[in-house]
Parts: sequence; structure tokens; C-alpha cells
Amino acid sequence: MGRLFAVEIVYRGIFQKSLARNISRGIVLAAHREGKPGISFGRYGDSPERKGIPAKNFAIVATDDQTLEEGMAKYEPKEVDITIAVDDTLCKGVESWAWYGLQPINRLTKPGGTLLVTSRYEPEVLIEMAHRKEHHYQLAIVKGIPSFSGLWVYKDDHTDVRVLGAVAKVLPELVSLEAVQETILAEWKDPLKVTSAARSYERTTTITVQPAQGNPEKPFEFELLKWWEMREGVTIPSIARGGAFHDPETGQEGGYRPERNPTFKKFTTRTMRPVVDFDTCVKCTLCWLQCPDSCFDVTPDGLYDANMEACCGCGVCEAVCPVRDCVTMVNEMEFRDNHSQWEMWKKDNAGYKAWLQEKIQHRPERSHGFRYRGQYEKEVPEVLEAAGGK
Ligand code: SF4
Ligand code: SF4
Repeated sequence: MGRLFAVEIVYRGIFQKSLARNISRGIVLAAHREGKPGISFGRYGDSPERKGIPAKNFAIVATDDQTLEEGMAKYEPKEVDITIAVDDTLCKGVESWAWYGLQPINRLTKPGGTLLVTSRYEPEVLIEMAHRKEHHYQLAIVKGIPSFSGLWVYKDDHTDVRVLGAVAKVLPELVSLEAVQETILAEWKDPLKVTSAARSYERTTTITVQPAQGNPEKPFEFELLKWWEMREGVTIPSIARGGAFHDPETGQEGGYRPERNPTFKKFTTRTMRPVVDFDTCVKCTLCWLQCPDSCFDVTPDGLYDANMEACCGCGVCEAVCPVRDCVTMVNEMEFRDNHSQWEMWKKDNAGYKAWLQEKIQHRPERSHGFRYRGQYEKEVPEVLEAAGGK
């Protein structure tokens, strides 16, 4: 029996669909050049309007046909050599494309395997976010802003080829840099992309993450029923109505907090989160009315607190709020918890104001696609220059 290689690309639905496809396809085409058969496929079971929801592509490669066939005889790999996260906020965990409950980003990464992340952040920041594993693994970073595009526009900022260069570095038995470069030239027909892949290869470094490092939270677990344990019919309880907002600090009750699904953690869809300035809020109710996920809890004093377990980060509240800088979308990487902002504001008004000012500094560099004419022409050369591709 030969050797089987598996790579998963975890990406954000819609925004990074083409990027993930380019990477998994590129891995398989490069492996083919070295005589290794492979297959690239996607797992995306959610409705496409859930923009940003974590989804996966896989590249499965083997040293011979028979091993590949054997490897493909299952729905998807149980463990992978490389987990690629093309958005660093995915390190907080993924509510998967098939509603398995919150899963660690590195769940499938095999002992000694690599988690490869596109990020501007230092390894320590990413290690702290990813859940602990029983075994050590490697962390590699492709330096740069995570690449998001829209439904119809692909942001061709060389992230795909830079990731391919990094894959050749961390697992040369899978694909060599030469094979990656030949593939890029044949497929993309752009020598500049070949240079970008080579730069990324040179710059990619890995560090070992030990079992004691990382987020200690216990990931969601479930046990599938055996067929003889199943009932003849299944009833699924609906979400209850909700009730008053209860302030755990003061015991104050009032307002309204809807009941939410305790298992489906929509926050993993988010790459930005709203930060609310409760001092300037005029209680117009627009954010509460327009939020597509009913995320706002109405507080006892009539303010609107975006619930961070439920918010998917769409940015509608920022768009509809009539008060300047009252709701600001901020890079999700700047946060470590999902605590209530209103509770923080109630407890320490001045401290909250300082916190808010510090957080809203981090708003400009995350954008889901392009929002004005000429943004593509402005942004892509800047990203390429920072990455050393130009
Ligand atoms: S970003 Fe705002 S509107 Fe969108 S889900 Fe979150 S709270 Fe609701
Ligand atoms: S839209 Fe803005 S001003 Fe209106 S209630 Fe929401 S946060 Fe307050």
C-alpha cells in the first residue's frame, strides 16, 4: 500500500469559494505532475445566502491509483496532513457546513500535521484561539490579510499561489516547489504568480504547538444513535419564546432577550463584529428590527445589546444605525470572548469608552468583497506589494 495525503481547505462560504477551489485544484494538479493521482472536491451543504459560513474543500492525493481509490472509499478524511484556514478568525472554531456543532479548526489535523493560516497576526495569537489537541502539531502562517471577494468577483491577490508555495514548504512529499511553479505557469500563465509562490515558500516558517497550548474549552460533542435506539418518529422542539433580560451583575430585570439555539453557534460565521456606543445610541430600534438573526437583546434600560453568541457579523446594524459611529464593525481577531458589551458598559462606563475607542481602530482592513468602483484596482496592488509578489 502506498501513501495517502489529505489536505482540507477551510474557507468562508461565498467570499472564499473560488480561492478554496484554486488551492485544492492547484495541489492536485501539481501532484499529478509528479506522477501522484489525486482528486479535489468540496463539502458545502449550507444554503448559499449564509455568506461567511465555514465550508471545506479537500485535496486527496496518493502515491498510486489503488491507494487513492481506497482513500476515497469514505465520505471525507478522518484526519488530514494539512489544515489550511484561509481566514484567521476560523481559528476560533467552525460551526460546520453540516451543523455538527462547534468544531475546533484543527480537529482533523493529524499528530505532527500542519495548520496553515493566512494571517497578519503572530503565532501566539492564533495558538491561543485554536483548541488544544492531545498531540503536538505545526503552525505555519502565510503572512497577509485574509482574502475575501464577493459572489461574482474574485480577488486575485495571489493568496492562492502563495498558499500553494507554503504547502510545498511544509509537506514537500506531497508537492515540490518546482511542481507548484510549473502548475501555476500552465494554469494561470502568469510568471509573477510563480514568483509569489517562491517568495511564500522561502518565507513560510513553522512552529510546533504543544498539547498544553491553546484554547482549553471543551469542543461540542455528540454521539450518533444506533439504529435500534432510534424512535419511530422524531420531534424537534422549537425555540422557546424568550423572556426578560437579566443583568447578572445587578440582578436588574426587564427588556427582552429571545431564546436561541444552544447548539448552533452562528458566531463562527463572523469575521467582523459590531461594537455599540451605548452613550450615543438614540434607541431608534432600527438595529433590533433589521438584524437578520434577531441578535439584539433589549436591555432593561431600553438599549440594544448585540448578542455575540448569535451575531453572524453581516454588518446590517452598522449600515442602518442613524448615529455616526454608534455601531462600528471591527475585525473579529481583536476579541477573545463573546461577553455582553452592555454589561461591560454598565459596570465601567469610562473603561468601556476607552475599550471602544481602542477597538474601532481596527475597522478598515476587513471587507467582504468590493464596495466602491476602483477598490479592486487600489487594494490588490497594495496587497501584492506587502506580500513581496511585486
Ligand atoms: S452584524 Fe449586526 S445585524 Fe448582522 S447579525 Fe450581527 S448584530 Fe445582527
Ligand atoms: S440603530 Fe443605532 S441608534 Fe438605533 S437603537 Fe440601534 S444602536 Fe441605537
